[in-house]
Amino acid sequence: MILAFVEHESGLPDELSLEALSLARELATAEGVDLGAAVFGDEGAALADELGPYGVEEIHHVTHDELGGYAPEAWGESLAQLADEIESGTVVVPGSDRGHEVAAHAGATLDAPMATNCVAVEVDDAGVYELERHRWGGSLLEHARLEGDRKLVSAAEHEFPVESADEEAVPTATEFTPSLEADHLRVRVDRVESGDEEGIPLGEARVVVGGGRGVGGPEDYDQLEELADLLGGTVGASRAAINEGWRPHDDQVGQTGAKISPDIYLACGISGAVQHMVGCKGAETILAINTDPEAAIIQKADWAVVGDLHEVVPELNDAIREQ
Ligand code: FAD
Repeated sequence: MILAFVEHESGLPDELSLEALSLARELATAEGVDLGAAVFGDEGAALADELGPYGVEEIHHVTHDELGGYAPEAWGESLAQLADEIESGTVVVPGSDRGHEVAAHAGATLDAPMATNCVAVEVDDAGVYELERHRWGGSLLEHARLEGDRKLVSAAEHEFPVESADEEAVPTATEFTPSLEADHLRVRVDRVESGDEEGIPLGEARVVVGGGRGVGGPEDYDQLEELADLLGGTVGASRAAINEGWRPHDDQVGQTGAKISPDIYLACGISGAVQHMVGCKGAETILAINTDPEAAIIQKADWAVVGDLHEVVPELNDAIREQ
């Protein structure tokens, strides 16, 4: 069995976990084995209805009195114990911070090899994985081999489209209670504060209007906000703009920020540094607005307007409003 670790919000699987399920299903098909899912949290049981369309045949709901909140070592230990209990093969996790943290702890307990941020995995006749994986947020592509009866892999963000299985499964649901010791609970999350998230989250937006140092100051983002509103999108920013204190950190697109995959990314006053581009390379179309015809982003964009964003963006806004 291929075992996928599925994160969820109030009983609904998150997008990165569904992407990881696409990879897990590919591996299960290639190896001719079943697909199972490990879910944590009180609302995990509700996932039984949600995961069938993705081909999940078994849902293992991990429960324990001490597992109410997120506890990386305990979750990793529990995942490892579950993998042993059900004699699973490869464990697949989402390419999220938690996915990586939990897999690292599980891998250490299982003494199993692990490869993160995979973008393609081929299984050879001997069960060895020939894989490609991202490093540095996708600016490097590594080719690697992963051997061993049980392996751990994570699916790089936005590299495996969320797709339902050819045949919907009706999963069985079982509870698994791990055996935990105080040592496994040294780190526990007991409170989460979310940012002032308004509007559409960057990672989900179909239109993103990005602003960089070329915007010139916090007040000039009003024009970009207006453009984003008119197009039903949201605003992002380069790290330079964040460092200037013009935008909140949540808005950062790039290697150390959000990875976006909109239908269109309008990059305004952004030079196109590699660390920025790895965050927006998932965009279907990139339109750059920049005064410098030599800026790197002009070469990387599908469309470019060489001009001052303070003139181009208001004109765009007027034109859209008139339509
Ligand atoms: P600049 O490079 O200064 O570019 C400004 C652009 O605006 C120029 O091209 C200029 O021609 C144009 N411009 C100026 N005025 C106008 C105008 N009026 N109209 C139109 N165009 C105008 N960066 C990220 O964005 N995200 C990351 O996640 C990230 N992670 C990093 C991680 C590491 C480890 C490191 C070392 C760097 C990282 N960076 C990241 C920083 C990155 O290298 C760049 O410094 C940054 O992206 C530059 O931001 P910028 O394009 O807004 O600014």
